[in-house]
Amino acid sequence: MERIHKKGVLAESSALILAAHDAGAELLWDRYEQQLPLCAFTSNGLNCRKCFQGPCRINPFGDEPARGICGADRDQIVMENLFQATLEGVLESARAAALLGVGDAEQELPDLGPTLSSAASVRLSKTGILPVRKADLFAVQNSYFSHKGYLAPTLRDLTRLGLIHLGFLAQAASAARRSEASPFSPDGVNLLILGHASSELRQALAGLAAQRSGEKRINLVAQAAAVDHGSPELTLGMNVDALLVCPDAAWPGAETLAKRYGIPVLIADAEKSAGQVAAEAIDQACRHAQTAARGAASRLAAMPDVGRPAILDLEQALRSAFTSGRLTGVVVLVGEANVKQSFFERTLASMEAALAARALVLVGGGLAPETAVLAAEVERRKPSLSAFAAELEKDGLQPVSSFGSLLEIPRLASVLNRLTDGAGGGLPVVVGFPEFFRASTWAGAVSFLALGFPVQIGIRLPFWGSPSLVEAITSEWPKITGGRLLATPALPEPAAQAEELVGLLKTPRPA
Ligand code: SF4
Repeated sequence: MERIHKKGVLAESSALILAAHDAGAELLWDRYEQQLPLCAFTSNGLNCRKCFQGPCRINPFGDEPARGICGADRDQIVMENLFQATLEGVLESARAAALLGVGDAEQELPDLGPTLSSAASVRLSKTGILPVRKADLFAVQNSYFSHKGYLAPTLRDLTRLGLIHLGFLAQAASAARRSEASPFSPDGVNLLILGHASSELRQALAGLAAQRSGEKRINLVAQAAAVDHGSPELTLGMNVDALLVCPDAAWPGAETLAKRYGIPVLIADAEKSAGQVAAEAIDQACRHAQTAARGAASRLAAMPDVGRPAILDLEQALRSAFTSGRLTGVVVLVGEANVKQSFFERTLASMEAALAARALVLVGGGLAPETAVLAAEVERRKPSLSAFAAELEKDGLQPVSSFGSLLEIPRLASVLNRLTDGAGGGLPVVVGFPEFFRASTWAGAVSFLALGFPVQIGIRLPFWGSPSLVEAITSEWPKITGGRLLATPALPEPAAQAEELVGLLKTPRPA
């Protein structure tokens, strides 16, 4: 707790961390430090728990053991770990779609045609990867585990998984957009929802909240929409009145912390009906609001345009800004804060480099709610960038905008593909994942790669224990997808990596 500046680069985050520390609360950094040093085998993808003969591990220095009990070598084990991480990410998004009430077994994935550029469509059809269907989720498997010639076929399956992932995201987005986001009241009662609430539960909550005329408004704040400075554990220091935990919530530590703060915790399980859970959650939140002292560290705020990101309706404006020379390209930044690096440091470095190169920045995923905070920080650090903002105003564009959650990736890709498909060379687009930890976010990166975008990764991936795999994913994968993965075992400094990302804007995408 002594090195607050290492934990996040936003000044307000430090205030929240210190307030939690003063309350004797344990945050994710404390637990991270207790994990150190991290297992070097796992960090390099060199351990395997695929079957119950193991777990097995491979010596990273070439000594014994060089093979698992079944005979799998380092290449096979690392590839298996890469494959399983991607599959887990796709399933995370499939579960989100299911919780939103779409994507049952009979419902086929939506047509991915509009999401693909013409070049990607031709390339993926030629190799037999397209079309993808939901049943392919059960057909893809790292069945090449026992063969030495498995690397390229598995890369094709990873690409297929990336496309299936887009299908689940598109399904979930259509369901999420159907539920109108209620306006946020700064003085309201704050109910924070972790994970995806089912459609029945969201309807029940919205119905009960709307019935409260003449009383404080109930703010139903989805975790994905809250300005949380990088972690829901920090959100809990911002006047939250109750925490509702849904089945796919990812932060067990938040429940413990909420109890420590005296915030009621409710579980959306199958024991109670959606109406019962909603009534209890709102009742407990209101009781808490009546008696709780409002903390001074920060106030909860919700992203105003979640689910309806206006930037995706500005295709013509982007085209106009590019053709007039006011804009050199688009840098898409996706992810969420990761405890292994200073929160938002790499994202801010990428933003600054992009804006200095006169590229528009689109922020999404878990970073989306932080867009305004991050844009203000860039403005504070680099006042000279205001000239670029003034230029873009002529097109009705802002230099930094949010495109929404991961669910919006298919719609974003459709817009970007129409812009990049322009005759005579379209708008250059690069995608960065400067910080993230969720498997579904990694699957999002695989989806962008499958669509043929250049993708840079800002964390150290746990797949570098196999030199053959490094070669395959950096040189063979682009041949399949047209996309390019920029990721290295040694993580560059944030500023250097940001320059590399922006430099990609000048590299034409393969036809
Ligand atoms: S290396 Fe082979 S034997 Fe060991 S856990 Fe993995 S699959 Fe099982």
